[in-house]
Amino acid sequence: MIEEYNTVIKNPRKVITRFASCYPNIYRVAMSSLGYQIIYDYLNAREDIYCERVIYPQTKSIETRSELGDFDIVGFTLQFEQDYFNMIDMLKRSNIPLESKDRKPDDPLVIAGGPCAASNPLPISNFIDLFVVGDAEMIIDEIIDVRSDTNNPRVDIYDFLDIPGVYKPGEKVKIQQVKNMKDAWRPIYQIVTKTDNKKFIPAFGTDAFLMEVSRGCTRGCRFCMSGCMYRPRREVSLKTLMDTAVRTRQATGHNKVALIGEAVSDYSRIEELCWQLYEEGFQIATPSLRVESISDELLEIFKTSGMKTITIAPETIYKQRLKLNKTMTDNEILHTVDRALDLKLKIKMYLLLGTPGETSDDILELVNFLRSITSRGVRYNAITTSVNPLIPKPHTPLQYMGFDYDTLFDRFKKYSVRLRHKNKQENLKKATIQYVLTNSGVELNDLLKIGKKISFKDWHKLAYKINESKTNDNYSVPWHEIDVGMKESFLRKEYEKVNDGIVTPWCESDGCYDCGSCN
Ligand code: SF4
Ligand code: SF4
Repeated sequence: MIEEYNTVIKNPRKVITRFASCYPNIYRVAMSSLGYQIIYDYLNAREDIYCERVIYPQTKSIETRSELGDFDIVGFTLQFEQDYFNMIDMLKRSNIPLESKDRKPDDPLVIAGGPCAASNPLPISNFIDLFVVGDAEMIIDEIIDVRSDTNNPRVDIYDFLDIPGVYKPGEKVKIQQVKNMKDAWRPIYQIVTKTDNKKFIPAFGTDAFLMEVSRGCTRGCRFCMSGCMYRPRREVSLKTLMDTAVRTRQATGHNKVALIGEAVSDYSRIEELCWQLYEEGFQIATPSLRVESISDELLEIFKTSGMKTITIAPETIYKQRLKLNKTMTDNEILHTVDRALDLKLKIKMYLLLGTPGETSDDILELVNFLRSITSRGVRYNAITTSVNPLIPKPHTPLQYMGFDYDTLFDRFKKYSVRLRHKNKQENLKKATIQYVLTNSGVELNDLLKIGKKISFKDWHKLAYKINESKTNDNYSVPWHEIDVGMKESFLRKEYEKVNDGIVTPWCESDGCYDCGSCN
């Protein structure tokens, strides 16, 4: 049984545009997404729009139990490539045609946004009429206004394509981002979920609200798609954050604030922010922290404010970390671990296997390094790890690299048999599918139409084909029409530095190296 508060109630007959905000993953994941909460609050602030939520596996809205076909616009939030299957499944079970080409004038306009739609939406382009590349606040109003002026959105498609940030394959697009966080939308009346059922409890619990401290990250990790796409880093002012926290507490009744951003611990006044939140009686949570910017003071505030676990991402051994442009030293990691354990905080660590040029000896060195860390965690489960294969992603310097299931299979085996602590690991078959979904072009649409029944053998073959194409000197990325800021020449230069582990310093401390994002 779930109860919700702050649900928006409007009369659908009294608005001009009905918008179905669809999330192709389960309720718990949807309600943990700040982006999804922003869209709901932002659109419902307009009197002429009623935005309702449709969350997988449902195909009817939570608010009025309406079918997707009853809406003017159906908008999917795509945060994970694996959600493409659920999105297709939702469309198949809805009362609108699956493919754009079969939709009639009075069928809704089907759009998609979020990191997957902005990075490489080509594999799902037959199912979506238009993609939103960038921050919703910058693009969505114009889409809605054009939609309300047309009787046949698919015939008048070029009216939409005139809007900056709107994309359809065959056209060029430049990402649209909020430049000053003063203009970013802050959802105050966030949906509050009350339930005992674990299946529905959001990531930070049923007693937390989400607060965005910054967007973007400029640290330059060579595998990180959000770090490459969302630049430069933009901060919300301390005063605005404190005001937002107090108002959102009043609106939700929650005392726990989850700080959200690509690089929360890089926030220039992070200690001050956390102290002020603590003094106002807030409990603090945050998803992941960058080791170099965690001071002893910050750890103490986290502990004092009730945090139980910190999450850090050492990824791999030092030599490999440099290839990824992650410069944290082993000593810095060990220092953070020791301080956290002194404070009786638990530690969760993210690791990557399959980093460029990784050898079997590197795996053994990683296991030894982990043993030296886990041997410090005297309490059972004080230290846990989560290991993932590195999946080369679009718009990153590692986009030119392949993904080899068979080598990774051996690496994972070597790694896991030697571990002596609690470890979670990503399913390699799923990772192979994700690699294909992120690295393919429009040719994948026909296959995705079949849904989840495609055999792993076929995915494996497709991954192999992509790897082969990347070895071609004339390889051109399928997503070249999408300009997210970073110059292709910069990405190539960064890729050339990988093998020798040559580091590109942080532009915020060592000066701009002209990656292209601030132009
Ligand atoms: S610090 Fe984190 S968010 Fe920033 S580029 Fe590196 S992995 Fe990405
Ligand atoms: S253009 Fe310069 S300052 Fe801007 S993100 Fe790139 S390197 Fe950093």
